[in-house]
Amino acid sequence: MAPMWLLLAFLLGLAVGSFLNVVIHRLPKGETLGGRSRCPHCGRTLSPLDLVPVFSYLALRGRCRYCQGPISPRYPLVEGLTGGLFLLTALRFPPSLEALFTFLFLSFLVALAFIDLDTYELPDPLTYGLLLLGLVGAWAFRFPLPFQPEGANLGALDGALLSAGLMALIAGYGAFFLRRFGEGRPEVPVGPHQVHMAALLGALLGPGVGMALAFLSWALSARTGRPVVLPDRLTLLLFPLIPLAPLLLPPLGNLWGEGWEGLAALAALKGGLIAAGGLALAGGLYWAFRGDPGETEGEEEPVAMGYGDVKLMGALGAWLGPYALLALFLGVFSGALFGLLLRKRTLPFGPHLALGGVVAFFYGEALVRAYLAYLGVS
Ligand SMILES: [Zn+2]
Repeated sequence: MAPMWLLLAFLLGLAVGSFLNVVIHRLPKGETLGGRSRCPHCGRTLSPLDLVPVFSYLALRGRCRYCQGPISPRYPLVEGLTGGLFLLTALRFPPSLEALFTFLFLSFLVALAFIDLDTYELPDPLTYGLLLLGLVGAWAFRFPLPFQPEGANLGALDGALLSAGLMALIAGYGAFFLRRFGEGRPEVPVGPHQVHMAALLGALLGPGVGMALAFLSWALSARTGRPVVLPDRLTLLLFPLIPLAPLLLPPLGNLWGEGWEGLAALAALKGGLIAAGGLALAGGLYWAFRGDPGETEGEEEPVAMGYGDVKLMGALGAWLGPYALLALFLGVFSGALFGLLLRKRTLPFGPHLALGGVVAFFYGEALVRAYLAYLGVS
């Protein structure tokens, strides 16, 4: 690559990182992203000279020019990190629409990771924005994935639904075990119950019908004002049996198409995950627009369909297709490692998932190929 392009990308990354600092700081508080930056200690409006990425911090030795108050090293860190990621992009892509979309992908992930670190939340505008960008890139110019599946590969849409569905079910089973198999309080008009119904019915009847029936339950719940759902005890306990059925009883395999039972099992699993993902993303979007449901009579259940990691995983699925699973695996590994090192029990998962997403985006194919070669498969 031309050295000029590499330098340009790095400098652009520093500048974007500086803007991301503003996003990370202000978006969770609902503040406007425009307007000049101020020193948090003395409130002085900062001059452009104080805002040169990384260099101002070094020149001022991490202190405010006016009041000598300490400046968090987080600011130059975010700037340097974004610069490095943009440089990595420039090494991979020439100046192109592909490079621009990759810059956007990385910027969203940096903002999401640091906001999650600060607030334990992944804002809907960023998760759904990243998901939408992935779908637009796929639809408009097949980057990084085609929109529709091609051959054995997942398309961006299926990738998003499947990944979100997988994450929603992990959340669903996790909560189910924590409740010791007790029933959760169903949310009206839509909540995890519909997601679990979609998984079961999607595995049984295919993703389209599964989704349609779960949406019917949503509509009936909205109409009657009370939950019209199947219990979790039924949906979550039956769901894993459906993909297993064609393996245990080969004649059943024919229900999902002829051929090898393993394929039927896979089709059932995929149908369930895709239907669940559709409900999770649609339900999450409903609550995002509906806003905070507010006072739920002092109940301490989390806000309806918080699902931040589910939405982020859906976004990664749109960008990475099957490599979103690698991102999840790397995220779990990184999260466990940091949990051990920092001896903390609760860490936000978003930063690790974002890290896994970046690694899978740049090195996913190489990692999988190396692993298959190690197994002696390829
Ligand atoms: Zn100051």
